[in-house]
Amino acid sequence: MLNGLMMDAPLSIPLIMDYATAVHPQTRIISAAVEGGIHSYTYAQAYPRIGQLAHGLVALGVKPGDRVATLAWNGYRHFEAYYAIAGIGAVCHTINPRLFPDQIAYIANHAEDRVLCFDLTFIPLVRALVPRLPAGIKLVLLSDRAHVPADHGLDGLLVYEELLAGQPTHYRWPDLPETTASSLCYTSGTTGEPKGALYSHRSNVLHSMASILSAPRCFGDGNRILPVVPLFHVNAWGLPYSAPLSGTDLVFPGPKLDGASLFALMDGQGVTNAWGVPTIWGGLLAAMRAEGRKPAALERVLVGGAAPPRSLIDAFEREFGLCVLHGWGMTETSPIGALTRESSMPTDLDARVTAKVSPGQRAYGIDMKIVDDAGSPLPQDGVAFGELLVRGAYVVSGYYNNPKATAAAFDAAGWFRTGDVARITPGGDLVIVDRTKDLIKSGGEWISSIDLENLALACPGVAAAAAIALPHPKWDQRPVLVVVRAPGSEVVGAQVLAHLATGLAKWQVPDDVVFIDALPMTATGKISKLDLRKRFADYRFADTV
Ligand code: AMP
Repeated sequence: MLNGLMMDAPLSIPLIMDYATAVHPQTRIISAAVEGGIHSYTYAQAYPRIGQLAHGLVALGVKPGDRVATLAWNGYRHFEAYYAIAGIGAVCHTINPRLFPDQIAYIANHAEDRVLCFDLTFIPLVRALVPRLPAGIKLVLLSDRAHVPADHGLDGLLVYEELLAGQPTHYRWPDLPETTASSLCYTSGTTGEPKGALYSHRSNVLHSMASILSAPRCFGDGNRILPVVPLFHVNAWGLPYSAPLSGTDLVFPGPKLDGASLFALMDGQGVTNAWGVPTIWGGLLAAMRAEGRKPAALERVLVGGAAPPRSLIDAFEREFGLCVLHGWGMTETSPIGALTRESSMPTDLDARVTAKVSPGQRAYGIDMKIVDDAGSPLPQDGVAFGELLVRGAYVVSGYYNNPKATAAAFDAAGWFRTGDVARITPGGDLVIVDRTKDLIKSGGEWISSIDLENLALACPGVAAAAAIALPHPKWDQRPVLVVVRAPGSEVVGAQVLAHLATGLAKWQVPDDVVFIDALPMTATGKISKLDLRKRFADYRFADTV
């Protein structure tokens, strides 16, 4: 073997901002501030504050390897924390504030967080959590003194702007091996305790470069990108890194994520593309219909994190001329594993919408295989389907401090088991069939809950739908469709079933439609089928009672 004669310069997160400041210093970060109003500054103005925060954290006693947690919305101070924490060799542990307090307490203790930085919104949550947080944890309010409420009730509360004040603006970043841990995100999963994905400087930089390659038209000059996906969910899909790398303006939405607020922010700030989960885009679509137009500069909407309904993709493209990009990924894959390749999409609208129902091409850096129940590889012919396994430079190699979960997550060759069931086409496109746990097995045949939901959402009067498998004495499992009616609709089960029968084989049509007021959601904005299955645990099929 002959080694290349190239410098071994480690990939480093703070050097992304070093580069952004030098090469496109005037690129902006605009935030809907938690305190109200809009905060706007350039990468060149953000960087000295990151330096000050780094000094402030060291003064607080934060050491390399320590975990510094955040409970915060998408905003400029959270962005600064990402860079300063990782820059000093500590680990930015983003916590999802929508988790149950029990889960937050579990996660903070499992991670042994030394510092917790949080937004004003979360003062009551933090107050309730304090007795259960790791002993000696330091609390930092992401605000200034003027906004500290008199009755905050938190002993020793530190204020972010005071942590920065008077500190030098330049920090000499330590030379860290590129495999140094930079950030930590727990995935709630559907069962068991949350598991930690521990990212490195190397994995984050590589993932960010790969996502710029996968969605090239979202980045660079003239683009203004809005991550609706939270900074507390898989590093906001890498956007805090890929935007500065590529010289793209960032717009952070703060706490208001309803359709009308997002519309106003996008419209007012000239957002060209926005990334988020399907439920968020349902809200934006409603706001666009109410306004009778799209936000002025919006061109692209990236949807991922859960299967987007075909009706959503269709409405964005057909009614508003937007380009939808569909991504698949997981906390464990940093997250982007596959994404619509815009340049290879059909020009015909119907064909294009159909193509975008699947996530599309795997990202550079991710290998994929599908396997049968015995773990043997299946052909990538677009027909065979089985569990999807992945590997690559930004896929987890284990869970943080969790040997049991780690042992269960990999096959003998070291590939990560995603728990998703997929097809892969000869052209390398990924087609997600379902979650392993959500697939419905009826009389030995598989039924995709995603397919059922997609069809149901195209039925007039159906606002939301989830298909679940319920035990059946004869067929093993049978599908039941849980539906939320659109406002004012009086659609009945027989109409929904008749609609489904137009697109499904008879045995695939659910046995029943049950109407409820709202679907239960997980902390990351996905339909919680686990809760639905629990809720209908005592359900009996009409032909079995
Ligand atoms: P999380 O780690 O919370 O981001 O959840 C990852 C899981 O979300 C994946 O394993 C999939 O089950 C689901 N998911 C993400 N993107 C998609 C997609 N485009 N289509 C269907 N399911 C998806």
